[in-house]
Amino acid sequence: MPYENLSHKAANYLDKLCLQITNRRLGSLGNQQATKLFSKLMASFGFEITYHEFECQDWEAQGALLQAGGIHFQAFPSPYSQGCSFQAPLVQAATTQELEATNLTNKIVLLHGELVKEQLMPKKFPFYNPEHHQHILQLLESKAPLAIIAATDKDPALAGGISPFPLIEDGDFEIPSVYMTDKEGIKLLPYTGDMIKLESRAQRIHSRGCNVIASKWGKGEQRVVLTAHIDAKLDSPGALDNATGVVILLLLAELFQDYAGDTGIELVALNGEDHYSALGEIKYLEHNQGRLEDILLNINLDGVGFQQGGTAYSFYECGDEITSLVGKTFSSHSEMLPGDIWYSGDHMIFVQNGVAALALTSEHGMTGLAEVSHTPRDRPELVDPSILASVALALQDLLLNFPHR
Ligand SMILES: [Zn+2]
Repeated sequence: MPYENLSHKAANYLDKLCLQITNRRLGSLGNQQATKLFSKLMASFGFEITYHEFECQDWEAQGALLQAGGIHFQAFPSPYSQGCSFQAPLVQAATTQELEATNLTNKIVLLHGELVKEQLMPKKFPFYNPEHHQHILQLLESKAPLAIIAATDKDPALAGGISPFPLIEDGDFEIPSVYMTDKEGIKLLPYTGDMIKLESRAQRIHSRGCNVIASKWGKGEQRVVLTAHIDAKLDSPGALDNATGVVILLLLAELFQDYAGDTGIELVALNGEDHYSALGEIKYLEHNQGRLEDILLNINLDGVGFQQGGTAYSFYECGDEITSLVGKTFSSHSEMLPGDIWYSGDHMIFVQNGVAALALTSEHGMTGLAEVSHTPRDRPELVDPSILASVALALQDLLLNFPHR
């Protein structure tokens, strides 16, 4: 297929996934439309389709109302939090020590300063979960305030470009919470000890989601597994994060529609990378118990296609053979560049289970992407579709040269 044609298709898929489908957060109607579209297209290219279906939590909110001393403060319901309506005294804590020393029973607590520098990992998140995050959540649960207000600024590493960011984004955490800017928090602080009024209008919604696995079998069970998460954050069109990865899988499927090689190819839309539960990732591992050792390599796509710069690739537990094959293959694709290791993507679920992985993202991912990821600004305009076509062609080259064992 000519390159221009591929770029054109990439732009078309991107438009469908980000604009015609208005939201791909896990559990939403848009998410279900996206997985349906993916499986339909994959099947049309002759791939065998399987699903990992699961129940999940979706969420809706209509805003929050916070009043102290007759003044209104701007606050937002934390994603996946329960709603609430309370009138209670305000207490505050800026450090773990202050939190430990404060009685929170029947009170609303304002968390600020040191305590809210990092977004707290969800309590049941299985892949990465620092002890100090869990400690703060456990303290809050044992002290059981009526509700939590978090006054935050930025945390590019864990919360992307969102500012203020929700300190808690966790459907398994039962204390209602809202968040606000740190500036708003400073204004609220003098009301410590006073009765304040907090109403958060939010509902958890029981829903469903699935991974879609598109396969072309080779001789036996050995396969290369290419992954891209299809879900997006709540209010983000998720163009770079990660419609582009899904688009590359779709382009590859068409390039491989007549494939009959020895090595199996599995193209997977994972569903949960941007959801507190990481359910798609957990289900993938469950369904592949005893089959992970047949995976020769995972290639994970996340954040590829930023209009400036090339595409960065990085190796995880790859042996010499794969490393030199990738290096050699990509050296004839000038836009593919060796890049830094990053640990937050879906390739880690493979690496943590002893499977070699190759991760692809934009060269200027950290500088260009961090600002927009997880926000409404992550739109198709930031993507150069011709990069998606180039990456698909580079991966086609790699897969066609992949040694069968
Ligand atoms: Zn992502």
